[in-house]
Amino acid sequence: MNDLVESLKALLGGGAVLEGAEIAPAAFGWGRLGTPLAVVRPGSTSEVSAVLRLCHEARQAVVPWGGRTGLVEGTFADGAIALSLERMNGIVEINPEDATMTVEAGCVLQHACETADNSELFFPLDLGARGSATIGGNIATNAGGNRVIRYGMMRELVLGLEAVLADGTVVSSLNRLIKNNAGYDLKQVFIGSEGTLGIVTQAVLRLRPKPASQNVALLAVDCFDRLPRILRNAEKGLSGTLSAFEVMWEDFYRLVTTPPAQGLPPLPHGHPYYVLVEALGGDQADDSARFERVLAAQLETGQVADAVIAKSKAECGRLWSLRDDVVQVVRNAPVFAFDVSLRIGEMEGFVGEVREALMRRSPVATLMVFGHLGDGNLHLIPGVGSGDGEARKAVENIIYGALKKRRGSISAEHGIGLEKREYLSNSRNPEEIALMRTLKQALDPRNILNPGKIFA
Ligand code: ZN
Repeated sequence: MNDLVESLKALLGGGAVLEGAEIAPAAFGWGRLGTPLAVVRPGSTSEVSAVLRLCHEARQAVVPWGGRTGLVEGTFADGAIALSLERMNGIVEINPEDATMTVEAGCVLQHACETADNSELFFPLDLGARGSATIGGNIATNAGGNRVIRYGMMRELVLGLEAVLADGTVVSSLNRLIKNNAGYDLKQVFIGSEGTLGIVTQAVLRLRPKPASQNVALLAVDCFDRLPRILRNAEKGLSGTLSAFEVMWEDFYRLVTTPPAQGLPPLPHGHPYYVLVEALGGDQADDSARFERVLAAQLETGQVADAVIAKSKAECGRLWSLRDDVVQVVRNAPVFAFDVSLRIGEMEGFVGEVREALMRRSPVATLMVFGHLGDGNLHLIPGVGSGDGEARKAVENIIYGALKKRRGSISAEHGIGLEKREYLSNSRNPEEIALMRTLKQALDPRNILNPGKIFA
């Protein structure tokens, strides 16, 4: 019997601590989680603090768990105490006048969005894992997703937060002011830190007015050079209402519009690129007219080869569902998932080089590419017919090698976790990594918070 686990049970009550056979049913996720020593489910910030105090004393590793939908093994918790925020899932307050919402860390993203919507407000973070991912996890990973081009990543959507440090100290920094330059902006230390510097327990989110109009179109484009021009024209012509510019390479578009995928192709196959464009605004009639005008101009000049504009909410949803149907990539399994960032002008050469190198390695290689082109963020899903470690390493060398030359980032939005830590120095210089280590050492000298993630 583990003394620490017994102390945690005495502290929280037996039902809040899962051990042995109780763990498996509670421990599902999108990636490898390992076998935790126990899963601990505190119900309040003071309980999180008490848990960390005990673990700090015992020098016990603690891995925070949210929705466990991350893709870089950031929640791998073998032998650690997995601290699940699932019971701390409430909306603490919504303030329409300030356009803020205070939530607990375990609040599911979709629930936060729906709550804002019910108050005629809008929380703009949107990503595929919306039904499981939690606000705490979105903060820990500085989540991005589909509307970053307009509203920014999680970093821009959080006004304040409360975090518990490794030794149990509660830092309540629940700022709700948009402008606050009174010293360091401490929330930013925790946002994107992947649970290595503190455990976020609450946050004040910045809300926006609920959009009164949504316009969505799918465009077919015949050469890459035209994509940045279409993007800049859309930004300019749509007067700040452009909220998504998602590009699907042809292979991906074909995959999500052929059975067994449910989606039908709104535009014929055969174009190299398909772009989902969305604008959110304040007046449906005016905004639709402008949206159509801007797209018509691009069709006339030949920048866009073909286009379809959604005529109803349901049609908007159907176009989005194609881009969202990422799960179809398992048809090429085994596959690997990459999430990279690079300048838009480098993308075509990068994807071409990667594709060629993959084909050279394996005649059965596949490469699905899609992503948030407006943010310089591509998702690559390569398959080389094998899922083993050697294949993975070879594919990593191909992709990160092609990326390094172009000074891109190995992680646009998924983070580093365990999966990419070996490549951190591809995207960060020695001084940057040394400063990261200084921060880690200062905040977590016993290295108990999500140890081994980001760097060894
Ligand atoms: Zn993404």
